[in-house]
Amino acid sequence: CGIVGYVGHQQARDVVIEGLRRLEYRGYDSAGIAVIDSGTIASDKRAGKLANLEQALAEHPLPPSSTGIGHTRWATHGAPTDLNAHPHQGQKGRVALVHNGIIENFRPLRAELEAAGHSMLSATDTEIAAHVLETELLRTDDLTLAMQAACRQLEGAFTLVAVDAEDPSRVVAARRNSPLVVGLGEGENFLGSDVAAFIEHTREALELGQDQVVTITADGVEVTDFDGNAAEGKRYHVDWDLSA
Ligand code: GLU
Repeated sequence: CGIVGYVGHQQARDVVIEGLRRLEYRGYDSAGIAVIDSGTIASDKRAGKLANLEQALAEHPLPPSSTGIGHTRWATHGAPTDLNAHPHQGQKGRVALVHNGIIENFRPLRAELEAAGHSMLSATDTEIAAHVLETELLRTDDLTLAMQAACRQLEGAFTLVAVDAEDPSRVVAARRNSPLVVGLGEGENFLGSDVAAFIEHTREALELGQDQVVTITADGVEVTDFDGNAAEGKRYHVDWDLSA
């Protein structure tokens, strides 16, 4: 439902939670966050209001990190439980992924993965995408290439945002039939399902086109299509009145 991604000089956990709060107006049933902490994913996710997640984080704070993702979920596959909340991870816990939309072909993909020895923890379509992405990451060792390859296998409507535990320098996202916007900062960049996710930090935005993958680092943004060809988003300035 609502998606946030961040890489830069601020505390990722704070920027992500703040972004999720700005996206609350969309409605949701669960919320979750993941940050990268020296080669591992640190994550928490809870059914219910964002306040539930914030309370859990107050008791067990996430480590400081430059790189994080967050999600508010509107369940389509699997009940609204802690386990089904996003982020989801791959078999080896190297990627964390959040997703808006529906992966239409998750059943055949799930059967293939299970035949290859994968086991799923949740009832979501999203966890399948996380396993597909991590499988490609283990092959390519490059989250951007892995996202392109994963998207070529996924059908349906999706905005995906993911991190690699072994590469805190980037957050990679993709979209098909579901919105995704980049917030362009200085020494930091943002991702959101809409500009509300980062409006407090920047008003310079880049809207992704259909079937595109974007890689953000603290200092750069790179867009391609699902085959890896260079592509371009649409640059614009957000001039909402925040006080309204
Ligand atoms: N289909 C996914 C799920 O049920 C994502 C739902 C959403 O867009 O929040 O977990």
